[in-house]
Parts: sequence; C-alpha cells; structure tokens
Amino acid sequence: MYRDYGGNIKNMDDHRDDNYEDTELEEQKSAGVEGSEEKKDDSSGDYEDVCFICRRPESKAGKMFRLPNHICVCDDCMHKTMDTVSQFDYQGLLNNPNMSDLNSGKGFPNISFVNLADLRGDGGIPNKQKPKKKKKESKAEIDIRDIMPPHKIKQKLDEYVVGQDHAKKVMSVAVYNHYKRVATGTMDEIEIEKSNMLMIGPTGCGKTYLVKTLAKLLDVPLAIADATSLTEAGYIGDDIESVVSKLLAAADNDVERAERGIIFIDEIDKIAKKKNTNARDVSGESVQQGMLKLLEGAEVEVPVGANSKNAMVPLATVNTRNILFICGGAFPDLDEIIKQRLNKRTSIGYSAELKDKYDKEKNILSRVTVEDIRKFGMIPEFIGRLPVIFTLEGLNRDMMVQILSEPRNAILKQYQKLLELDEVELLFDQGALEAIADKAMEKETGARALRAIIEEFMLDIMYEVPKDDNIGRVTITREYIEGNGGPIIDIRSRSAEHPDHLKEIRQS
Ligand code: ADP
Repeated sequence: MYRDYGGNIKNMDDHRDDNYEDTELEEQKSAGVEGSEEKKDDSSGDYEDVCFICRRPESKAGKMFRLPNHICVCDDCMHKTMDTVSQFDYQGLLNNPNMSDLNSGKGFPNISFVNLADLRGDGGIPNKQKPKKKKKESKAEIDIRDIMPPHKIKQKLDEYVVGQDHAKKVMSVAVYNHYKRVATGTMDEIEIEKSNMLMIGPTGCGKTYLVKTLAKLLDVPLAIADATSLTEAGYIGDDIESVVSKLLAAADNDVERAERGIIFIDEIDKIAKKKNTNARDVSGESVQQGMLKLLEGAEVEVPVGANSKNAMVPLATVNTRNILFICGGAFPDLDEIIKQRLNKRTSIGYSAELKDKYDKEKNILSRVTVEDIRKFGMIPEFIGRLPVIFTLEGLNRDMMVQILSEPRNAILKQYQKLLELDEVELLFDQGALEAIADKAMEKETGARALRAIIEEFMLDIMYEVPKDDNIGRVTITREYIEGNGGPIIDIRSRSAEHPDHLKEIRQS
C-alpha cells in the first residue's frame, strides 16, 4: 500500500478499516461514531459541516478544510494530523522494509512504504542513479613517461613466470603499446589500433598466471571470465556484458579505473562455431558476434554492485575502448589443423613423402596462422579484433622443477616460510623436485598438478613437525616422494635420523 501525506488525507475513508492507528482516529472509532453517513453531510444548507476526525460541527471547531469526496477536516485536526505525519519515523520503516523489527515498535505488518525521494514525478520509476564519471574527455589520464617499457615489464614477469619467453615478450610490447595508445588518444589522426590479444597454449602452462601477474605489475583492475559461461543475451547463462560488470567490481566501482583495466576471457576456444548443427548456437558463434562490439570499443551500461540488470540496481556507463581484452584457450586439435595445412603444402609435387614431417614437431602450435584459427571455428571478425596472437609452450620437466622452486612466490618457498615460523628448516633435494615434476607431468594438467602433489606429501610433515620442538630441519628426498623411504629429520644441536614418530611418515 502506498501512503504519503497527501494520500493519507485523501484516502482517509478507505483506510478506516485498516490497522493504521492514528491516535485521533482511533479515539473517534472507539467512541462508536461512524462517519459513513456523515459523508453525505454536504453543504446543502440544512446541515452544518462536521469535522471528519473529531466530529465537531463547524460552529464549534471553526473553519473547515474541504477535501474531495465531501470530507471536511477542522483546523485543529488538520494540524494534529500534519504533526503526527511529520514526526512519524517512516524513514526508519524504509530502512527496515521487511518489518522484521516489529518488537521494537517499528513497522507495520504487510505495509510497505515508498520513499518519495525514489520516485520521479513521471510514472514513479525508481531513480536511475549513475555513478558520477569525472571524465575529462580526450585528456590523457596516463602520463606516457610513467608507462613501464617492455623490457622492464618482461623483467618483472620473469620474476614470477618460468619460461614462456616469447609470450612474455609479445605481451610486454603489446601492453606497452596499448597504454601508449590510452595515454595519447589519437596521434596526428593516426589512430593506434587496440592491442587485444589471443593466447594459445595447453592447460596449466601459465596463461591466467601471466595475465594476473601483468595486471598486478601495472596496477590495473583485472576481470577474469570464463567463455563457457557466456551466452547470447536473453539465454540462460551470463550476458556478454557481465564481463565488464566484473571489471567494474574489480575496480571498486570506479568507472575511470575500470576503463583502463584488463579483461581476461579464458576458454575462448569453447565458443568456437559448432560444426554440423542446425540448432541456434547461443553459446558459440553468437557469443563471438556479441563480443565484437566490446572488443572494439563500445559504451556499455552495466549494473553496479550486482550481476544482472534490474530496475533497482543503478547502472554505470563504461566505455570499453581502452579496456585491454586478452583471450586465452587451449584450442585442442588446433595442432591437427596446422599439420594438415603444412602437410598439404608439402604433399604438392614431389615432396609427398614428407607427409609425416610435422607429426613429431614439438612446437607445432607456434606455427599457427589466422587461417588455422578460423578453421577451428572462430569467426573472421572476431579474430580480426584480436590482432596480437601468440602461443605458449607446454611445460616440460625442467620447467616444472623451476616452477617449484624459482619464482618469487614459488610453492616450495611458501612451505619453507610456513615451517620457518615453527623454526624448522625445510629442504628439498634435487631428486625430490624431479620426482614431483615427473608425477605432475603424468597428470597432464600442467603446473596446476604441482600444488596438489606437494600438498599430499607435506600434509604428514605439517602435522607431525609441530609435535616435536627438537626438530630443526626436514629434508624431502626422492625416496619419500616415490614411496620408498621417509624424509630426513635433523634434530636441533644433535643430529638424529628419523625420530620414532616421523618414521611413520611413509608413502604407502
Ligand atoms: P592456464 O594456462 O590453464 O591458465 P594457469 O595460469 O592457471 O594455467 O596455471 C596454473 C598455476 O600453475 C598458476 O597459478 C601458477 O602457479 C602455475 N604456473 C603455470 N605456469 C607457470 C609458469 N610458466 N611459471 C610459474 N608458474 C606457473
């Protein structure tokens, strides 16, 4: 039910049976005075006007306010009503719209109040608040001298990411150019093209990790979305624009910061055009189509602080022109497409015997061309908007060993730090690292497997070590990882191998 001051007076008659307890009204009701017949008391001459609230005639109560439907209210009652309404804590009720606080005297069951401030004069549509954009159009927001040059970006990436030299180099240059473009806007009418990227590499080789590290280095907001969850607007799944909404959230709803951020869309290969299908492809080609505008630069209205647009959520307009889009995917079987293309070339003429020449080539992915990606199922317009295409190598055993111990926040360093807090030194011998890497290689999920494997072996150690204050050092050996022995335990000051309870740490 909607009430405001005017409505209260206007609909007084309608509310008489409600629970609404205006003290004045209640007094009159309990006195058994019914007002319905008095309504007919019009000013026909024979009858005096009677106050609708206190029932006093005009001769006693003084001049009346005449309201529609022949309702008269005396001056006193009108003032009392106005006082009551103005003192009434309807704000408290608004802040407590579910009326859960009935015991404290606030709120009425089944009555909700509308805050007039939320309504516009026209049809009562809730106000569309737009977070202010303090935008200085066309003015450079980034100082070009502040942008990290490519070699510095790569240097920093090297501290965290093992291998992938080519990818790091390409990314550093692309990011440098991108932010130069953002800083300068247009250059002598030569508009610098956007450096959106497409990274191709097997799972767990560091695609997401590279992008995350990059965003951290550059101190820009980053949104990571999964292409598999995106569908054409109107279908079950996330709207394509939801990725921009995520970025806005990552930028703490600061539109300007979001407009300089990075959006990483993983599993992009999953939105390849479906082959041989007659059904509408709402999560494949249509998503690619839908993304075209975003990739290029468009004004998008996104909900602030929510995932979906609805009338109650304020909207913000975000321009995606300067947002850097990086798409990543494993593109399974792309190597077959590449091989096919290469083989076709060699099988022309006399070189047909070279047919399997490329079958054993390890880094076949690095020979990818736009044509191969198109054949895979990405539409040309989509690929065209990702001008920087590069591949990442699958991780080999040596890289795995390095990943374990070398990056700034390597997994081993994390465990060492944890045990250091117990004043215990944790060492891994080279054989142990290789054994862990071998186990991870078997799982074929890239470096992602490493943590799971180490966690399994470290569990017993993390459990047992705090039991004994004498333990000063634990060395993880190949035998322990392979299940043929235990870790080497060194006792503080004296040295002793395998104290009794640690002897039990064996890999079955
Ligand atoms: P994907 O390529 O599937 O996106 P991720 O980037 O998510 O793989 O990698 C998973 C985890 O493996 C990362 O969080 C990171 O810790 C580790 N990792 C993967 N590749 C590397 C690498 N080249 N250098 C360092 N760590 C890596």
